[in-house]
Amino acid sequence: MIGQCLCGEIIFEITGVVPNLYQCHCSQCRKQGGSASNTATIVGANQIVWHAGQNLITKFKHVTGFNSHFCSVCGSPVPNKLRDDDLVWVPAGLLEQSENLEIVAHLFVGSKAHWEIIGDLAKQYNQMRDLDTLYKALQHTIS
Ligand SMILES: [Zn+2]
Ligand SMILES: [Zn+2]
Repeated sequence: MIGQCLCGEIIFEITGVVPNLYQCHCSQCRKQGGSASNTATIVGANQIVWHAGQNLITKFKHVTGFNSHFCSVCGSPVPNKLRDDDLVWVPAGLLEQSENLEIVAHLFVGSKAHWEIIGDLAKQYNQMRDLDTLYKALQHTIS
């Protein structure tokens, strides 16, 4: 599945199955994305192939450890590595096809903006989930 930033300079591909999505409602994601929450998925580092624009990525690390990588031309958030580099966070809005994806978890609902109303039936968690647990929860169930 291809993903690209708003200006189209940064293009990447996720090979294999793209896991489902989660939304994070924490205050950091809110500021980073400028909206109620951040919708993303997590893929294996070996699933990401960069096609263009990797040299345009600006990296910001907050004192809390929160990472934000973004296109220096248009400001779109772009994928960045998590933890020990084995997993990569991918912002869902950059993906070109999303027909098979759904939101399966809401994180940090306890600190969401007062004006936000969550309108789907996905599970809600007041805080972060353990990364391995979250990654497992995002996998498509085979029916
Ligand atoms: Zn861009
Ligand atoms: Zn967050």
